Amino acid sequence: MDDKKGKCPHCKKVIEELNIAKITLHDEIWGSPKGHTYTCPSCHIVLSAGFDPDEITAAIQKVVESALRKHLRT
Ligand SMILES: [Zn+2]
Repeated sequence: MDDKKGKCPHCKKVIEELNIAKITLHDEIWGSPKGHTYTCPSCHIVLSAGFDPDEITAAIQKVVESALRKHLRT
């Protein structure tokens, strides 16, 4: 067994792969962006969750573009 691979904290099986599912997050700053959960394929416990990086990049791009347009008008 490769001892560098982690084990699921719930079912204790060695994690060889993870399931990824799209979800909607609720955040005071970003609103309701898309995100992902990473779950154990054996017991389906959620091991991690996070923002969809493409969606956050697009949101930052919008804010920067809006600020630049506002700055260039004045
Ligand atoms: Zn598990």
